[in-house]
Amino acid sequence: PVSRAGHLLDDLNPAQRRAVEHAGSPLLVVAGAGSGKTRVLTRRIAYLLAARDVHPGEIMAITFTNKAAAEMKERVADMVGARARSMWVSTFHSMCVRVMRRDAKVLGMSSNFSIYDSDDSRRLITLVARDLDLDPKKYAARTLAVHISNLKNELIDPETAAAQATNDLERRVAEVYTVYQRRLGESNSLDFDDLIMRTVELLQRFPDVAEHYRRRFRHVLVDEYQDTNHAQYTLVRELVGKAGGELPPAELCVVGDADQSIYAFRGATIRNIVEFERDYPDATTILLEQNYRSTQNILTAANAVISRNPNRRDKSLWSDLGEGEKIVGYVADNEHDEAAFVANEIDRLVDGGEVNNSEIAVFYRTNNQSRVFEEIFIRLGLPYRVVGGVRFYERREVRDALAYLRTLANPDDTVSLRRILNVPKRGIGDRAEACVSAYAERERISFAAALREAVNDRVPLLNPRSRNAIAGFVEMMDQLGEMVAREDDVADILESVLDKTGYRTELEASEDPQDHTRIENLNELVTVAREFTELELPEGADPVPSLPAFLERVSLVADADSIPDADSDGVVTLMTIHTAKGLEYPVVFSTGWEDGVFPHMRALGDPVELAEERRLAYVGITRAQRRLYLSRALVRSAWGQPSANPASRFLGEIPEDLLDWRRVEPSRSGPAAATTWGRSASSGGIASRGLSRPAPGKTGWKDAPALKLDVGDRVTHDKYGLGRVVAVDGAGLRATATIDFGGAGTVRLMLIGSVPMTKL
Ligand code: ATP
Ligand code: MG
Repeated sequence: PVSRAGHLLDDLNPAQRRAVEHAGSPLLVVAGAGSGKTRVLTRRIAYLLAARDVHPGEIMAITFTNKAAAEMKERVADMVGARARSMWVSTFHSMCVRVMRRDAKVLGMSSNFSIYDSDDSRRLITLVARDLDLDPKKYAARTLAVHISNLKNELIDPETAAAQATNDLERRVAEVYTVYQRRLGESNSLDFDDLIMRTVELLQRFPDVAEHYRRRFRHVLVDEYQDTNHAQYTLVRELVGKAGGELPPAELCVVGDADQSIYAFRGATIRNIVEFERDYPDATTILLEQNYRSTQNILTAANAVISRNPNRRDKSLWSDLGEGEKIVGYVADNEHDEAAFVANEIDRLVDGGEVNNSEIAVFYRTNNQSRVFEEIFIRLGLPYRVVGGVRFYERREVRDALAYLRTLANPDDTVSLRRILNVPKRGIGDRAEACVSAYAERERISFAAALREAVNDRVPLLNPRSRNAIAGFVEMMDQLGEMVAREDDVADILESVLDKTGYRTELEASEDPQDHTRIENLNELVTVAREFTELELPEGADPVPSLPAFLERVSLVADADSIPDADSDGVVTLMTIHTAKGLEYPVVFSTGWEDGVFPHMRALGDPVELAEERRLAYVGITRAQRRLYLSRALVRSAWGQPSANPASRFLGEIPEDLLDWRRVEPSRSGPAAATTWGRSASSGGIASRGLSRPAPGKTGWKDAPALKLDVGDRVTHDKYGLGRVVAVDGAGLRATATIDFGGAGTVRLMLIGSVPMTKL
């Protein structure tokens, strides 16, 4: 069979080939960015099928995004044909949904459970905290949600959390967690973290279930292993099984790069990759050293930055693609100037025929930085797409419509039901809702069941008007429910929801232009549903009624899934560096390289966070294949307040000889005229058109004397009031102070003469 598969090894280097051919013991492939780890994983699957006669149904591969899963499946299908279909290639979450749909009954849940995303779960936590009379100022739902999520990622159940709590916050969190889990159960719902945690529980508590999956999946492959958390790690262990049993463990192959671990805030831990050999004592490790993605200059820069991180294993990554272009550096006056530079440069590259728009990506540290780019791209008619940000599925009207569908699919889904109970307004006020809710709690029945009791007049303190309104609502939902029972098309059900509830009519009657956008979004959702209905079910897929399947799909749409295909759209892609993980682009603009932006403000005084930011810098740089641009702005407005930001410390770590500074700080280069603004003059001035590039002298900040402050000084600010200086950065005119204004928060200000602040 090897000859049949020989071509699968042709374009691999010897180390990659060994990884593809390796059989038996657990395999770890560790290597820097762009060294072909993902290629090895994909190729290994093809090789298993072609050369080792593995049945596709025996393969489970886990990727970081649904998009990566779809691509991998497609690539394998290209290599081995339609047989690829019965493999499981998915994200951890999608994989767990599949397992739970089949086996949730064992855990006492029904298989039509809802999936709560982070917004839903925060809503439920808010309700729980309110019922527990917690002070929302002291215990914000967001904070509670983070703590509960962390516990789940560590597989700590509510009882253990309560037993382990050592301070007031932990005790409160455990209390909320306990009630929250109970309410999730009553709602027949799972949140994102539950998908993993409860699947682990399923496998650990029910050996026959575990046995079923272990018999089926003889090969488990995991990409981006450095970003697994403890729960995911355990899940993999359970799937693979232990040696010494009746059934030998499945063959495990994981690939990753500890330097690219950037999801610590979701509980990811590089421990899993660093200690793989301890977890699996008979493991084989293969290192890859050749990078096939980037030119040497780009790689050298990436290595220079990442090598400053402590406690890492040094890797020697090299490329034979040549030195390539120098990395272009640009110091902008402000964020608008930075965006204009990026837009101009894109224009120039595309005009020159070197690349097309779809080969270009613009990165930033946080989603809110996309706005200035969007503004100028729109003004210049440069086609672009933003990945992430306020996403389609997060818009209010879309969430409302989906809440109707979820309530119809699962009446016990209390969060969805309560979301739409009085939307559009139908006379069921907060008081009526509270009466029903109290009754449900007392009788230990679901909120939906309590609504029916209200119609029968069994809920005390409910006034007749509310009762009638509830009766109308229940009747309407029953009518819609018949469509679901008949298994009508999702799109038809959705249309009926929008009509019968009066949702669409209300928006149509509105004068607010935003409401018209809302109608468009709802129409878009109907289109999504139509397309879904018309989708062909893949062979071997479980024939699920279309409504639950549709809801599942939209619940699991991750940011990265909306990344346009490189060759289909002629658009520039804008995204955060987190979202860019695993991707590659010929031209990358990485922006906002300022201390306080990137590295993030939060990381400035915290070595652990700083190391994570540095890994993020490494990920960002190594996405670039041929051209890399690094830019920063001297002044950036955040929360309506301009602040002067010093250069990112990461910039200073890149050897100067790799950089071609198109524009440097004015104090170093003399007047700002000595720059590449020339192009904007010759092409009609697109760069400066309408942009607020502060002219020296005009805004006065460049020549104003700095206010001298030291750590510990007390100040008074016209807007923020009294404060104490906690940090001073930069010198002379670049100086900034970070000041704790108590209730008004901690703010970083530039110490220009015109700052409305006095030292006390
Ligand atoms: P990351 O760490 O960013 O996830 P990776 O290690 O997964 O990167 P890949 O995305 O698999 O790297 O590969 C990077 C690029 O190099 C891809 O375009 C891939 O097709 C190419 N490549 C990998 N191995 C080879 C090879 N042996 N010959 C030619 N090209 C290769
Ligand atoms: Mg990869």
